[in-house]
Amino acid sequence: MSKKNAEIAMRDEELDKIKACIHCGICLSACPTYLTTGNEGNSPRGRLYLIKDLIQGEVPELDIAGQEYLDNCLSCMACETVCPSGVEYIQLLDYARHEKQESSYSKGFWGLVRKFSFAFLLDQRYLLNLGRIGLKVLNIFYKLFPFLPKLSKMQPSREISYTKLEVNKLYPSAGTILDVAGENAGIGVCEQSRTVLFNLGCVMDTLYNSVHHDTIKVLNAAGYHVYVPASGCCGALASHSGEFEIGEKQTEKFIQAQCDALNKLYETEQALGDFSNPIVFNSAGCGAHVKDKVYLESLVLKDIAELIDPDNWLAPISLEDFKAKLISPVKGIDENAEIEDGKQSLKAVYHPACHLYHAQGLTTQYQNLLALIPNLELIPFLEAEVCCGSAGFYNLIKPQLAEPIGERKAANIKKAGVDLVITANPGCMSQIEAHLGGGYRVVHPMSLLAQCFSEKSNI
Ligand code: SF4
Ligand code: SF4
Repeated sequence: MSKKNAEIAMRDEELDKIKACIHCGICLSACPTYLTTGNEGNSPRGRLYLIKDLIQGEVPELDIAGQEYLDNCLSCMACETVCPSGVEYIQLLDYARHEKQESSYSKGFWGLVRKFSFAFLLDQRYLLNLGRIGLKVLNIFYKLFPFLPKLSKMQPSREISYTKLEVNKLYPSAGTILDVAGENAGIGVCEQSRTVLFNLGCVMDTLYNSVHHDTIKVLNAAGYHVYVPASGCCGALASHSGEFEIGEKQTEKFIQAQCDALNKLYETEQALGDFSNPIVFNSAGCGAHVKDKVYLESLVLKDIAELIDPDNWLAPISLEDFKAKLISPVKGIDENAEIEDGKQSLKAVYHPACHLYHAQGLTTQYQNLLALIPNLELIPFLEAEVCCGSAGFYNLIKPQLAEPIGERKAANIKKAGVDLVITANPGCMSQIEAHLGGGYRVVHPMSLLAQCFSEKSNI
C-alpha cells in the first residue's frame, strides 16, 4: 500500500471511531474542563467535533479558540470510562495532535525548551535532584516573602526527606541469604522467583522519594525482593504532553533496562518476553503509560496494588501473615492518639488517580488494600473520580484551568470533613496538597501501609 493510501486508510479508521459518538452528553459531567468552565468546546463531545473537522480536512487548521479547546484537555480518560458507546477519545485526540495539529506548547522557542527538558532533563537523576534543591530554595524564599506570587504550586509544601536509593541493587526482605554467586551479581540467585523489578522513574523519585522507600518496605513485607534497574524516565510525561517521539524513545530505553535487569537476574541471555518476574509501579502515570505502549506482551507489568490486592493475592507470603504485621496507623499520624479496641478511627478520603482508575481500570484494588489497615475509615466524597488538575505538567502550563480544577477537588475533599487524603500519584499528591492548604496531610497508600508495620515486624 502506498504511503498516501495508508494515510487515507488511517484517516478513515479514525473517522469511523468518531462515528461511534451518539452525542448523548453523558461524558460532560465526568469532564473536569467542562465542569469547571461550562463550555461545550471544553467537553469531550465538543472536542470530538473539532477533531472530526480536522481529520476530514474541513478546516486546514484550528483557529486559536479551537486549538485552545484541544490543548485544555487533561487526557484524564474520564470520558472514556463513562461513555456508553465506547468512543476511543484519547486515541482520536492523540491522532489529531500527532498527525494534524500539534499542541501550541510544542511550537516556537518555548516548544524547543520543552522538548529539550523532556528529552534530557527527565532522564538525568542528578539534574532532577538539582531541581529538587531549587524547589527547596524556592520554598524557603516563599516562607520569607509570603506575599510574592508563586511560580508554581507543584512543589510539595512540606519538608520531605530524601535518601537516595541505589540503582542496579537488590533490596531483599529480611532473612534472605544470598548465595555467593548471587552476591557477586548483586542478586540472590536462589530468590529469583520472588524478585520484582521496581523503577525509580523521575517525578516520584524527585518530589516524593520517601514513597519509594515505603514501597520497597511494603514489597519486602509481602515477601518480595526488590531489584532496582538502572532505568530513567519511562516516557509517560513526554507522551502525555504530546511529545510522542521523545516519549517513544524513552519507553524503548526503559523496556531495554528491564530486559537487561531480568537477564542479569537469571544471568542468561533469554529471549525477550520469557520473563515472569513482575515489573512493579507505584506511580499511576508510569504504569498506565508502559502498559499501554509496551510491545512485549509477555512482560508482567503491575501496579503495586494489583500485586498485593487482597482479592487476588499474588505475594510470596500469605495474606494472613501480611495482615498480622499491620497495626493501626493512628499513632503514626497523631502521636497523642489513644486507641482502645479500634474505637478511634482514622478518617480519610481516597482520591483515585485518573491513570489508575480510568486508564488502568484499577477501580477497587487500592480500596481493598486500604481496608486491611486497622482503624482506617474511608469516607466517600463528591466527584471522587474527577481529575484533580495535575495531569503531568498541566498544572505548570495551564494554571488558568488547573487552579480552578484543583480548587474544586479541594472543596469536595473539605466537605468530606477529613484531614487525610490518600492518593497514588506524585502529580495528584502535589496538586491536592497545594490546593487544600495547611492542616491537611496527603499521603501515598504505600506510605500509610509502611507506617502500619509494627516494630516487631521482621521487614
Ligand atoms: S458519552 Fe460518548 S457517545 Fe456520549 S457524547 Fe460523550 S463521547 Fe459521545
Ligand atoms: S480526557 Fe478528561 S479532560 Fe479530556 S475530554 Fe475527556 S474527560 Fe475531559
